[in-house]
Amino acid sequence: MRALIVVDIQNDFCPGGALGTARGAGVAAAVSAYLRSVPAGTYTAVVGTRDHHIDPEGHFAPAGTEPDFEETWPVHCVVGTHGAEAHPDLDTSLIDAWFLKGEYTAAYSGFEGHLEGSEETLAGWLRACGVTDVDVCGIATDFCVRATALDAVAEEFGVRALTDLCAEVTPGPGAVAFNQMAYVGVELAESKDVLAPNA
Ligand SMILES: [Zn+2]
Repeated sequence: MRALIVVDIQNDFCPGGALGTARGAGVAAAVSAYLRSVPAGTYTAVVGTRDHHIDPEGHFAPAGTEPDFEETWPVHCVVGTHGAEAHPDLDTSLIDAWFLKGEYTAAYSGFEGHLEGSEETLAGWLRACGVTDVDVCGIATDFCVRATALDAVAEEFGVRALTDLCAEVTPGPGAVAFNQMAYVGVELAESKDVLAPNA
């Protein structure tokens, strides 16, 4: 059984946000359209992850310094702010469960998170649902999507990345990230391959 993991489609990672990706809002709308189109039974569960910062030590560039966009970042996805909310073009009624990460530390992978309102881990929750395979999409290809896909492989799920449903911070590193995923066994696919597998 397969689940879809929708990574960090939040206002701060979309145009106008603190760390906006160029394609973020388009991906939000495309994921919603995709989920309304997939054949019934494609996914046992659809989970969303959210960057959920309270005081993530060292993750934000110190006041007065420039972020390096590798280890330090502009302030983003602070709990209770608009930027931390799911982008409005992501239809959250299609998400079965949310996993939150990064309260007090940097956390790129959804597998570092916990079920909203619970301590349950993503890997444990998926296994309890009988999930053996996951599709991964969302933001950003070169950071949290990559980290989530690599952790899914490490947790011994079969993993597919839906490349057209991902938004990158930077195009070159985004392409490298897909290569890194493929290198460890992630299947690269497009949403149309799932919607019309025999086309
Ligand atoms: Zn963050």
